[in-house]
Amino acid sequence: MNPDDTIAAQATAPGGGVRGIVRISGKDCDMAIERLLARPLQNFNNDDRAKIVATDLFPWGPETPIPTKIYFWPPGLGFTREKSIELHTVGSQPLIEAILRLICTSGFARMAEPGEFTFRAFLSGRIDLVQAEAILGVIEAIDPGSLDTALSQLAGGIGGPLLRLKERLFETLCHLEAGFDFADEEIEFLSQDDLREVLRVALEQIEAALRQMESRTDSSQIPRIALIGRPNAGKSSLFNIFAENSRAIVSATPGTTRDYLECELENAGLRFRLIDMAGRDEFEPDDLPDKAAKIMAELAAKTADLLIFCLESGREKLDPWENAVLQADPDRLIKVKTKVDLDPKNSAQSFSADFLPISAKTGAGIAELKEIVREKLVSLGGGDGSI
Ligand code: GDP
Repeated sequence: MNPDDTIAAQATAPGGGVRGIVRISGKDCDMAIERLLARPLQNFNNDDRAKIVATDLFPWGPETPIPTKIYFWPPGLGFTREKSIELHTVGSQPLIEAILRLICTSGFARMAEPGEFTFRAFLSGRIDLVQAEAILGVIEAIDPGSLDTALSQLAGGIGGPLLRLKERLFETLCHLEAGFDFADEEIEFLSQDDLREVLRVALEQIEAALRQMESRTDSSQIPRIALIGRPNAGKSSLFNIFAENSRAIVSATPGTTRDYLECELENAGLRFRLIDMAGRDEFEPDDLPDKAAKIMAELAAKTADLLIFCLESGREKLDPWENAVLQADPDRLIKVKTKVDLDPKNSAQSFSADFLPISAKTGAGIAELKEIVREKLVSLGGGDGSI
């Protein structure tokens, strides 16, 4: 993310709507929209206030004028404090995409990365870290409670209050130093009572700021669910089913250690991270001595709040590693028997009597599994879906 690039993005939700907004930020924002206009823009670098111009855009050539209002912010005044433009036009998705395509192929701008406008607002000091996190919190809020928390953080960032506190303390320090310099004189610059009061108020404000920092939205609070089992047990297929049927908040990306896949999902109003511990396959569970097997099982349990243990239908016996996994806290363990379509009679496996039979191929048992996941998440998180 080069902070010198001019960036552009759709600022309204994707899809049709009354109004569609494209936001562009950076020194070349005016050049980036030039080819959409009938005549060049006047430079607004030196304006001292924002302005709005009603005009037409021509993303599909001169025959098709599109009525648009252009908002201009000279450097220092907009959300990112960079020179910025917003195009407010008809809320049609193909139109917004055509406009963005022309902007991003102009040679003057590129598509913004997710959160990049907010990042720039943070870098320029427009918002503090708590407010930047709160913007993400507002976007990702999944219930009225999490929205409330995010909104109050957004309204009451800590940058402003801390700056005022710093000024007040600095002023007090000046009075104190003046008192030392003129210690022999009769003049009292700051009485002991006043000083105590200033410090008492300052301490209160610092404690309030600390509390606010602690209560801030923290994505690491999202529960983690790990799929574990032997190679070929059907973990990746299950991972894909969850990822396809749920709203993927973050698309699947290889984990940083490259030994697992992780995806942030929302299902029936609950948010969680799903982890496919695929890389464990390299360890060949069969060959593991008991102790190593237990350590691996513990590691998996530590990584996740919930474990979905996958056992392939028809397996004759469990290996030590699997037995160790089954010792996990039952409130945090979901046992599934995969690929039941290959074993329609669900042949007897005494050790798997209490496993939920599922099939990624036919979809059997998937709805039940999701319901069990939901119930366990709710019971772990006390019902508000945000453990
Ligand atoms: P992983 O190694 O545990 O991630 O297992 P995969 O999800 O990659 O599955 C291993 C193989 O089993 C693949 O060839 C899948 O297509 C197949 N498979 C997975 N789930 C099912 C299922 O429910 N039914 C059938 N018939 N095959 C499955």
